[in-house]
Amino acid sequence: MEKETSLFLVPTPIGNLKDITLRALEVLKSVDVILAEDTRTSGVLLKHYEISTPMKSYHAFNEHKTLESIIRDLKKGKSFALISDAGTPGISDPGYLLIREVLKEGLDVEALPGPTAFLPALLKSGFPCDRFVFEGFLPHKKGRKTKLEQLSQEERTLIIYESPHRIKKTLSQICEFFGEDRMVSVSRELTKKFEETQTRTAREIKDYFEATTPKGEFVIIINGKST
Ligand code: SAM
Repeated sequence: MEKETSLFLVPTPIGNLKDITLRALEVLKSVDVILAEDTRTSGVLLKHYEISTPMKSYHAFNEHKTLESIIRDLKKGKSFALISDAGTPGISDPGYLLIREVLKEGLDVEALPGPTAFLPALLKSGFPCDRFVFEGFLPHKKGRKTKLEQLSQEERTLIIYESPHRIKKTLSQICEFFGEDRMVSVSRELTKKFEETQTRTAREIKDYFEATTPKGEFVIIINGKST
């Protein structure tokens, strides 16, 4: 007998509202509750698609606290969809903790395929995409240099998420740790009006973004170390 799904992980657009699957819309309409990282942000998406499912806030600061009541409701037969502000929940976003606990309870988790920022950036870089390493955000302080040193030896294509506040520092450290000639691709504002991808040497990319005021959200792709 097929188990009834109680928790759906639903990817949402990373900029362009059209980037949502028919199945994602169907699930968001049919579940009892949508767990949203920021109910205001997700409210825009839900309004656009005329979805009136109740939302409950679920984010990095309350995920431990709310876990128990969500599990209790799941056991009572309530269905939930977890969404994040953008992209796939659990990918540099809350989700892991809940997924682990739901599976531990023997309940079913359904992960819908859909938008995430790193895949279009990886493909647009033109670097090998048969094998790659997703690092997410680098540590801000402790362990950052050790991590950069370790990553500089990686032969597979590397993927790093970055915010506009740290992009200049990170590009400068990529020059320092990976060498100025390493090929790097930076994608920003993917699927949005000012989407841009620059693929150049580490030095050229650093100079390019130093000459501008970097706006938006960034994905950095670094070509793996050649053997
Ligand atoms: N869950 C998301 C996903 O599946 O990609 C990632 C969320 S994480 C909190 C936010 C980071 O994702 C940003 O700092 C940026 O590195 C990346 N990102 C999200 N949307 C983006 C976009 N439209 N263009 C470029 N990078 C984006």
